[in-house]
Amino acid sequence: MTMNIRVAHLYGDLMNTYGDIGNILALQFYAKQIGVEVTSKIISLEESFKADDFDFIVFGGGQDFEQSIVAKDIQTKKDELIKFIEQGKPFVSVCGGFQLIGKYYVDAQGQKLPGICALNHYTEQQHDHRFIGNIRIQNTNNGAKYHGFENHQGVTFLGEGERPLGKVIKGYGNNGKDHTEGVVYKNTIGTYFHGPILARNGNLAKDLMFEALKIKYPDVDFSKMMDKVKIYEY
Ligand code: GLN
Repeated sequence: MTMNIRVAHLYGDLMNTYGDIGNILALQFYAKQIGVEVTSKIISLEESFKADDFDFIVFGGGQDFEQSIVAKDIQTKKDELIKFIEQGKPFVSVCGGFQLIGKYYVDAQGQKLPGICALNHYTEQQHDHRFIGNIRIQNTNNGAKYHGFENHQGVTFLGEGERPLGKVIKGYGNNGKDHTEGVVYKNTIGTYFHGPILARNGNLAKDLMFEALKIKYPDVDFSKMMDKVKIYEY
């Protein structure tokens, strides 16, 4: 039996800044090392999303215009996305995607776009300014360091019960003030990291790949496969 991971590339035709699709390619790269197949499907406007049809979600960043269109449509997928998150399956949301899984995002024009409120963070506007540059963070839970590139207007604040993906070592992160970057809830990750994050941080790609596999194939012992994976970080 060949094991496989089915990826939903959420609004991959509209939200894909800085090659965020590379997150899927990175997952494919690591899965291939252990003989696991990765398939992906773009789920876009007016298409239905069913949590049970997928094992992994990638939701990239976007410009304000595209994000405003997606913000409306994503409300129709809200219940199934929340179900997916609660099932504990991996969900990587980047920048604009990170903003839209929270409560709201105020764009550069001051327009307030509703999120799906799956998580409690919210994103306010910065006046005439963006956070741009290389960023490095450390995951305070397991000590892992992640490298990336950020470019965002929005400033995000974590809500009740939310913990960050990491502590900022260099760069701005969520809001340039409290040294938090991103969010983690179960296996859902929100982050401002382009790069793409899974391509530059093989440790994170590996962790999430095995989380997806363990949920899908609960009777398989993955420990030997985990030792086989060769990680790349840069
Ligand atoms: N439009 C959002 C912002 O400027 C998200 C940007 C992005 O996804 N790179 O904050």
